[in-house]
Amino acid sequence: MTRQPWRVAVVGGGIAGLAAAVRLRDRAPAGTEITVYEQSGALGGKLRTGELAGQPVEFGAESFLMRDPTGAESAAVALARRLGLAEKIVHPTVGQAALVIDGGLRPIPGGTLVGVPGDLDRVTSVARPAADADTDGGRPLVGPDADVSVGALVRSRFGDEVVERLVDPMLGGVYAGRADDLSLVTTMPALARAARVEHTLVGAVRAAQAAAPRAPGAPVFGTLAGGLSTLVEAAVTASGATVRRDAAVRELTPTGTGWRLTVGPTRDPELVDVDAVVLAVPARPAARLLAGPAPSVAAGVGALDYASVALVTMALPQPRLPELSGFLVPSTEGLLIKAATFFTTKWGHLRRPDGLALVRASVGRYGEEAHLQRPDADLAATVHRELSAVLGTPLPTPVDGHVQRWGGALPQYAPGHADRLAAARTALRAAHPTLVLAGAGYDGVGIPVCVRSGETAAEEIITALGGSAT
Ligand SMILES: Cc1cc2nc3c(=O)[nH]c(=O)nc-3n(C[C@H](O)[C@H](O)[C@H](O)COP(=O)(O)OP(=O)(O)OC[C@H]3O[C@@H](n4cnc5c(N)ncnc54)[C@H](O)[C@@H]3O)c2cc1C
Repeated sequence: MTRQPWRVAVVGGGIAGLAAAVRLRDRAPAGTEITVYEQSGALGGKLRTGELAGQPVEFGAESFLMRDPTGAESAAVALARRLGLAEKIVHPTVGQAALVIDGGLRPIPGGTLVGVPGDLDRVTSVARPAADADTDGGRPLVGPDADVSVGALVRSRFGDEVVERLVDPMLGGVYAGRADDLSLVTTMPALARAARVEHTLVGAVRAAQAAAPRAPGAPVFGTLAGGLSTLVEAAVTASGATVRRDAAVRELTPTGTGWRLTVGPTRDPELVDVDAVVLAVPARPAARLLAGPAPSVAAGVGALDYASVALVTMALPQPRLPELSGFLVPSTEGLLIKAATFFTTKWGHLRRPDGLALVRASVGRYGEEAHLQRPDADLAATVHRELSAVLGTPLPTPVDGHVQRWGGALPQYAPGHADRLAAARTALRAAHPTLVLAGAGYDGVGIPVCVRSGETAAEEIITALGGSAT
């Protein structure tokens, strides 16, 4: 057992790092000293509640899944409950979203798994599935250890239009990437599991849906009234961690009994000794920190590429908006906008008596970073023009606006990512059991996945240091 009290550093103050800090507080021996190092001036990472027209509005992640892929309560909901915030969870009042097809809006068909249909007849309003391609070839769609891109699998079974008009925009809404580049195993794990058993894609989608049954009417998404930053603040408080903002960790050096962190500016670094480290930063900064102590792990982790996006939010005085939560845009439509959310329609708790509407559009797809070089005003004007065109009505001039850029924010998990990551983790565990990776660079994007990843990392640290207090 390591000397007491344990000293644990959490590097990265996003939701993965903070979930790790809370779990350490709950399960590590009393008195454990937890310090969160965050390079920016604010905690939360991609969770950032800002303000527009006097109203809280999300400038980053907006909501979380209520259930995990097995149908159980998601880790985000469990964390909110742990933090005493369960009663603040609210759900969309309007769940129906649309797709932009040939310049106009069409409702997104139901019954799909991130756009992959389990019933081809239900998607014909937006895409014509290939006839008779999804035949039973007498063996599972995907081999037991294989991974493929989502696009390759769906194209081969349902044809190009289903990928381009349905799967691509829906996956793009989450990853800002393309179905043809993204790993089935990492981005659609439930479908991947089913595809290793089922002989047709329709069968696999249905099996994946049946494996996580949803009570009729049960909400899919939730958020916190007051904003997701309340989750961040409550996690910091519950963790009892010492928080160091504007404190970039630049180097990790093994000391034999733990780790030495080099923190802060090159000219005036601070050296801190700890027993263990949760490394909850994106893959690129993680690879830089791992390059010294674990070069082969750094190479595996650092291979991950990222997409950048910008979110343009506008406060519009009494615009005419359809009763939709928003819309997604296939890249084939030739628009800069990738997705739009009508916040004040979607979320009842955000509706305003004066009819002011908050609308957010995301721009930027993987490989199209050049568009994001444009100045804020240019992006905002383009978004306003494109929104007006899609809605078929000129939108009023915004009374307030905000452009949030998220550079290198969304991991592009290529096929084989899960295996590469497992190998990197195994090597890291063998060489340095008191250094554990957590967060979106590794286990998948999304608040629930990152919360679970942080909690799992905390458990691993506790085991490595000698077992839990409970
Ligand atoms: C625009 C956008 C919208 C999204 N919308 C949703 C959504 O609606 N629902 C959902 O579930 N998910 C959403 N996601 C995904 C989700 O927000 C992320 O997957 C998740 O928040 C990532 O958490 P994390 O802690 O792993 O990483 P991050 O949030 O990236 O946190 C990592 C932190 O580490 C810090 N850091 C980096 N290097 C160092 C260093 N050397 N030293 C110290 N600190 C360092 C960074 O400053 C950052 O604060 C969205 C993501 C984006 C970009």
